[in-house]
Amino acid sequence: MKMAQIIDGKLISKKVKEDVAKEVASYKEKGINPTLAVVIVGDNPASRVYVNSKKKDCEECGMGSLEYAMPEDTTEEELLALVNELNNRDDVNGILVQLPLPKHINEDSIINAISPEKDVDAFHPQNVGRIMLGGAKFLPCTPAGVMELLDAYGIDPQGKDCVVIGRSNIVGKPMALLLLARNATVTVCHSKTQNLAEKVRNADIVVAAVGRANFVTADMVKEGAVVIDVGINRLENGKLCGDVEFEGVSKKASFITPVPGGVGPMTRAVLMKNTLATIK
Ligand code: NAP
Repeated sequence: MKMAQIIDGKLISKKVKEDVAKEVASYKEKGINPTLAVVIVGDNPASRVYVNSKKKDCEECGMGSLEYAMPEDTTEEELLALVNELNNRDDVNGILVQLPLPKHINEDSIINAISPEKDVDAFHPQNVGRIMLGGAKFLPCTPAGVMELLDAYGIDPQGKDCVVIGRSNIVGKPMALLLLARNATVTVCHSKTQNLAEKVRNADIVVAAVGRANFVTADMVKEGAVVIDVGINRLENGKLCGDVEFEGVSKKASFITPVPGGVGPMTRAVLMKNTLATIK
């Protein structure tokens, strides 16, 4: 039986990080030590895993990393003071505040306080605006990672019908904008979309960012479609899976990303690229 080609996010992310490492090395020769500051508040286990992996990525790229682990009861004022301090430090290039924050802290206030020049997540309204208008210095890590995967496999979105499922500010919406910027015709689906399956069935490229295991099934996918699975869901047995029912869909798609090993590693690699972009 014909099977989709697996888009290997691990392999491509490794290449991206190797390129970053080369650039970091040349900056270091000039006495510049690119450094990412990561702030984590509280002890959310998932956030801890993400922060550890970002530290590891920095090490792999030869980049400096500073971690600020603050207690759960940190006040908004204390966090704002830290962000301000990091904004003003010349030895800190990128700043990333790991989300979600504890409920008593307003995430928007914190995101707005990060200097747009150091905002490696590209969440600051000024950077979001630049993504919309074109010419952004930083691209949001996950959607940009998806674009890098498409490019790496010679998949050109121009003129293609693309369906993005999900409209979050960090994945779905910017994903749609990046595809549009590359001349795709983009449909964005969400929880109020009617006839979603029908829309997905018309797509040449499907990007699933829903957060529901096995949401996209084989009957919803056109023969030969490219299927990008952004979802990360943990099943009751502890296994990770995406939003796409991989077994069935991989028999119909031309290309498919696995979970894990697809979009996830690319998100991390783009963060490294963004940290470098702060000094360009
Ligand atoms: P989110 O903020 O929860 O957004 C989910 C989106 O899916 C919303 O727009 C929602 O629609 C839509 N949705 C939910 N149920 C739906 C349904 N039954 N039919 C159609 N649309 C539905 O999630 P997110 O932050 O975008 O993340 C999405 C997934 O990607 C999660 O699994 C997350 O863990 C994963 N993720 C992965 C990476 C990575 O690096 N691989 C990075 C970020 C996120 P409404 O807007 O109408 O509510």
